[in-house]
Amino acid sequence: MWYPDFMGKQTHSTPVPSQNPQSSREHLELVIDHAPIALFSIDNQGIITGAEGAGLAPLGMTPEELKGQSVWKLYEHSPQILENIRRTLAGESFVEKVQIKHGPGAGQHYLTRYTPQRNQHGEVESIVGVALNISSFQEVKKELTQSNQQYQLLFDNIPTPMWICELNSFSILAVNQSALDTYGYTREEFLNMNFLDLHPQEDWALIEEQLLQATDQFGKSLPWKHRREDGSFIDIEITAGSTKHNLQRARIIMGIDTTEQLRAQRKAWYHSYHDILTGLPNRTLFVDRLQIALARATRHEEQLAVLFLDLDRFKNINDTLGHAVGDDLLRVISSRVSDALREDDTVARLGGDDFMILISELEQVEDAVSVGEKLLEVISEPCTLEGRELRVTGTVGIAIFPNDGIEPETLMKKADTAMNRGKEQGRGNVQLYTLGMNVRAFEHLVMENSLHRAIEKDQLILHYQPQIEVQSGRIIGVEALVRWAHPELGIIPPLKFIPVAEETGQIVLIGEWILREACKRFRAWQKIGIQPRRIGVNLSARQFHASNLVSRIVHCLDENRLDPKCLGLEITETTAMQDADYTRNILRELADMGIHLSIDDFGTGYSSLSYLKKFPIHSLKIDQSFVRDLHNDPNDAAIATAIIALAKSLDLKVFAEGVSTAEQFEYLKIAGCNFMQGNLFSEPLSTETVEALLSSGKKSWIP
Ligand code: C2E
Ligand code: MG
Ligand code: MG
Repeated sequence: MWYPDFMGKQTHSTPVPSQNPQSSREHLELVIDHAPIALFSIDNQGIITGAEGAGLAPLGMTPEELKGQSVWKLYEHSPQILENIRRTLAGESFVEKVQIKHGPGAGQHYLTRYTPQRNQHGEVESIVGVALNISSFQEVKKELTQSNQQYQLLFDNIPTPMWICELNSFSILAVNQSALDTYGYTREEFLNMNFLDLHPQEDWALIEEQLLQATDQFGKSLPWKHRREDGSFIDIEITAGSTKHNLQRARIIMGIDTTEQLRAQRKAWYHSYHDILTGLPNRTLFVDRLQIALARATRHEEQLAVLFLDLDRFKNINDTLGHAVGDDLLRVISSRVSDALREDDTVARLGGDDFMILISELEQVEDAVSVGEKLLEVISEPCTLEGRELRVTGTVGIAIFPNDGIEPETLMKKADTAMNRGKEQGRGNVQLYTLGMNVRAFEHLVMENSLHRAIEKDQLILHYQPQIEVQSGRIIGVEALVRWAHPELGIIPPLKFIPVAEETGQIVLIGEWILREACKRFRAWQKIGIQPRRIGVNLSARQFHASNLVSRIVHCLDENRLDPKCLGLEITETTAMQDADYTRNILRELADMGIHLSIDDFGTGYSSLSYLKKFPIHSLKIDQSFVRDLHNDPNDAAIATAIIALAKSLDLKVFAEGVSTAEQFEYLKIAGCNFMQGNLFSEPLSTETVEALLSSGKKSWIP
């Protein structure tokens, strides 16, 4: 094996890895035989004196064939090589990249180092050359370039936005086509941007932290919002890793646009938490929000209110005008209710005509009642649907946290109970749940079960309230008012059990008992010589619409041999207007008999004047609600005055109910009211008391 001299010379200046000369020579042989290296020596005439190494193969000549050859001849076609040899012979030492032009390896590149070898006089005697075939590296590089190109192809065509950014500053260095398409920026614009620019400023710190943590691998993908060129936002999931860009370490970032996916998810969410007809939250969302509000109210020691709103007789609208009109009406009501509430309040539709409202940060219970009243006001405004003017009323029940309960379900149930109580009270009102109310619901049940035996067990009693003629101050009649003396519940007022009796139909029998009892009593008074001019009896709606009403009244009067003029009958305004033609016919028959007819609770229903004019009635009774607030509410005073004026113009007499103060009396007297009844003169009295009173011979009842 031949080794050029310089090897020996080099070994003393550059330490060999091993101390054992034998093993370092073996290493060297191994390298020379297998690495793409060629070693050669040339004398100062240009004759090759030695050559060795696996790197010689591309020259197409063995070391033996090379030995003795003149480089001037061998490389006459490679002026670059000859020039290098000349420079070396002149004393230079340098590294140069050359390309061989002939032989099997023509075109291959070598990195060469030529070193001049001098004698003791300093003259160049020979050259030692080491040539490293770098074509194989260039192959690798070419492959690298190729895979780089493939990578570029992938980067450009992957259908999801990708960026390469500066490692720590996140200036964008490269961007793919999908990013251009998705964001609407041009490539130039992107290359002048920082990746953070895509994020809203409040996200900068967080996204920066995420990117800085990105390692060689693509990390976990996280959801963000990105701003597009047109200012709109997209939802994007970002994952980042590290890569090389132009030989520098850089961040590679990939985004997945999830806008559509999230939109679909949000839509599905919307549908599962909202009522489709009205767009309001549904029960599930309501309970959710209530739960959150309850937690907050507990923390801040605040009250909150749950309101249950139910429309009155909504079923009628659906049945008579059709479901399409019913649906439209629900939409109108929904938006009126939403508009009437604060933004923080929640209104949900639970289905049908049931709405639930959440009012948080409640300062006082009265505020919840005011909201309830406001809601009733806005829903009762007339609304025109398909050319018809509709008017709906509603009833509101209220439960208060923490008084009435601390769980969503409890509060909702109690608001419902309160609402039902409101319905019993004649609808169109606001009812607070109170501790006693579940007792009332229980009472309702007890009443329903025991009411049918009230007559046979003699539990019904009548009280009588005197009616005063304003002009003379005398009693002109009494109104019979029923009470139920319940063995367990005590005296139950009519407003509690009459609606139950109405619901169950028992009112017809009860009503007949009242009528007979009143007639019997009046006859008895006649016999002992105390006689108010008239006895007034209230007729319930169902009783008034019973088929044999007239014949029963006739029978009752005959039975007691009573002049029909002694009987007064009262029907409420609402009952009268239910079926105006029927009302007119029945009233005509009764009036023809000589019975005194009054419209009770006037002002609380909706009267049609044209009908009112046609009813053969004798008097209107102003509802006591207007009398009660006569001095506090100017509207009530105006209504009372208007009713009196209306009655006069229709040639009717006017009664005022519930007169309990001297001021009310004075006001109504001046306004022209004919008759009054109320605690100012006398409360409803038991039979014995009223008999004693009537026989006392008192001339004037005006205090
Ligand atoms: P109504 O016919 O309007 O009776 C007047 C109500 O006002 C009575 O209540 C009476 O006690 C009450 N009242 C009278 N003066 C005053 C006053 O100065 N202040 C106050 N706060 N209240 C006063 P009651 O007896 O509880 O009857 C309530 C309603 O129940 C009646 O209203 C009537 O609609 C119904 N009702 C009473 N008895 C009968 C009956 O025999 N048959 C039918 N169908 N309904 C009846
Ligand atoms: Mg009455
Ligand atoms: Mg009344």
